[in-house]
Amino acid sequence: MTAYDAIILGAGGAGLFCAGIAAQRGRRVLVLDHAAAPGEKIRISGGGRCNFTNLHASPADFLSDNPHFAKSALKRYTQHDFIALVEKHGIAWHEKTLGQLFCDGSSRQIIQLLLDEARDADIRLSSPITSIDKTGSGFRVGTGSGVFEAARLVLATGGPSIPKMGATGFAYDVAQQFGLNVIAPRPALAPLTFSGVDAARWDGMAGVAVPDAVASIGKRRFREAVLFTHRGLSGPAILQISSYWEQARRDEAGRVQPVTLDLCPDVDLFAELKAARSTAPKQELATQLEKHLPARLARRIVELSNAPGRIADLSDARLQAVAALAKTWQVTPAGSEGYAKAEVTLGGIDTAALSSQSMEARAVPGLHVIGEAVDVTGHLGGFNFQWAWSSGFACGQAL
Ligand SMILES: Cc1cc2nc3c(=O)[nH]c(=O)nc-3n(C[C@H](O)[C@H](O)[C@H](O)COP(=O)(O)OP(=O)(O)OC[C@H]3O[C@@H](n4cnc5c(N)ncnc54)[C@H](O)[C@@H]3O)c2cc1C
Repeated sequence: MTAYDAIILGAGGAGLFCAGIAAQRGRRVLVLDHAAAPGEKIRISGGGRCNFTNLHASPADFLSDNPHFAKSALKRYTQHDFIALVEKHGIAWHEKTLGQLFCDGSSRQIIQLLLDEARDADIRLSSPITSIDKTGSGFRVGTGSGVFEAARLVLATGGPSIPKMGATGFAYDVAQQFGLNVIAPRPALAPLTFSGVDAARWDGMAGVAVPDAVASIGKRRFREAVLFTHRGLSGPAILQISSYWEQARRDEAGRVQPVTLDLCPDVDLFAELKAARSTAPKQELATQLEKHLPARLARRIVELSNAPGRIADLSDARLQAVAALAKTWQVTPAGSEGYAKAEVTLGGIDTAALSSQSMEARAVPGLHVIGEAVDVTGHLGGFNFQWAWSSGFACGQAL
């Protein structure tokens, strides 16, 4: 039997990166994955161009029960370290928006980078894991094609988002086996669905996009695009706020929290409508709204506010209702589109069980957890891969 220092379960971003770091430190590393290809989520990420990090990544871009946990790993391996690696591999990249960095070519270049860095590791794909046991000196892992042993075991099997890509909640089963607490996993960065009332009010709006909107819950706000879908709302601002909505689904009284939407930020719409009533009284209200909103949305807002016709005929109260619907629209989602559409998983293996330096489980020496399996979830925009790199680095240094 080949002797390994470490077995890494999962050949995604975190597992492959960790394997490279450890192998380059002379560790004999085995990577096992049940999928037939490595890094499948990398391949489909960022519309095929992989948003591999974010120029502005900081601990504030991550959700966790312990918001301090990620700080150490993010500081030890930063976005600038990964950018330097991307450049070392000759991969051309560009900033799209808000610090989000993408490959000019293809996300496959990032997978190749990871495989090149991990060339000294033994990577075995199509290897479903059938058992994990603790031995006197480490861990024994059973697979369809043999049994392997190592002093250290790294759980890098991600979270359950997008099951059709081979994603599973396997890490949580292993956590349970070893007595590690799991913070309730929930779909995050997922489209939100309308409740029955909103579904009727906004029926037929699928495809309407508002390029610049603000979605907020409490003090947390995201200014990006919002998109109407057949079932509710999507677009970057909604995906971002969905993570916070999942976190704070109900208020203290048990009511489902609404998401507030400002569909035309920077515009004092009420003041503008009142001014238009003086300067262009014969104008239709919808025409005025179309200066800031897509025409279909403007017309629907007019219908829903019961404010048809000329702007001259509308009272202050009516104009205020129109402005409120566009600027402080409170939508109470029925839910999200779930793991089938979620880019990541909120929650995961409790950071309280792990060392922030080495990602090692305090109560199970030799067992490490990295990447999305851990209760650290990034915002949309390259932060989740940065966590895969940073946590993989911290662990790889400790193997
Ligand atoms: C559509 C989509 C687009 C995304 N785009 C971006 C983006 O552009 N930028 C960004 O930062 N993040 C993006 N993400 C999120 C990002 O892909 C994840 O956060 C990241 O891949 C997590 O890395 P990981 O290595 O922890 O887990 P994963 O990449 O999920 O890797 C886990 C590996 O474990 C394997 N595995 C799972 N269960 C088992 C099992 N039971 N036995 C054996 N092996 C198993 C899987 O096959 C997989 O190879 C996107 C996600 C999705 C779904």
